[in-house]
Amino acid sequence: MQGYIIHINKVKDEDLIVSILTRDLLVDTYRFYGARHATINLGYKIDFEIQQSTRSNIAQLRGVIQLASKWYAQRDRMHIWQLFIPLFYKHLKGIDSIEPFYFDLLEECSEKWLLQNPKRVAIEAYIKLLGFEGRLHDDFTCFVCEQKIQENPAIVRGFLLGHEKCIYKNTFEAQAIQELFSHKSTLFFDDFDREKLWDIVLEGL
Ligand SMILES: [Zn+2]
Repeated sequence: MQGYIIHINKVKDEDLIVSILTRDLLVDTYRFYGARHATINLGYKIDFEIQQSTRSNIAQLRGVIQLASKWYAQRDRMHIWQLFIPLFYKHLKGIDSIEPFYFDLLEECSEKWLLQNPKRVAIEAYIKLLGFEGRLHDDFTCFVCEQKIQENPAIVRGFLLGHEKCIYKNTFEAQAIQELFSHKSTLFFDDFDREKLWDIVLEGL
């Protein structure tokens, strides 16, 4: 199987519970310290096997091969990836069958991560995710007072829009938001605004 390591939890000694997102599963696996393994790290894409154990209801992680992308060695890009990827764990844990959309989205992000601004890739991926889940509220209605937003909207977690006076948050250019929502592009934001949008992404999917 192939998947992305989206969560690592240290248990006793140096053993780990490694949670891996595959195309249709979020699987928790147990990795014994000292077992011969390829290096694993949060965010890595790996090829792996699992072995069911009779003593435990958590499968053992076996036969790990790292499927590294070129940017894995670039500290900054990896750092941003390792902030982005755990959001998927929080969002998907506890769900038995996972739609391929999420794995495919990470594949797409990983491909773009080398050549594009990774924060930009992450913001655009977030909007795609909201669209996929039917959570993209693009009608410019304030989620607090439910009135139309005529001026530049403010944004909160989940990219919900509101009046500045209703939610007391930074505002963004209405047209740039429109472009982001309809074309999943951050092209019309400057770097300063992209940083603010990235902060909203980090609040959770
Ligand atoms: Zn309002």
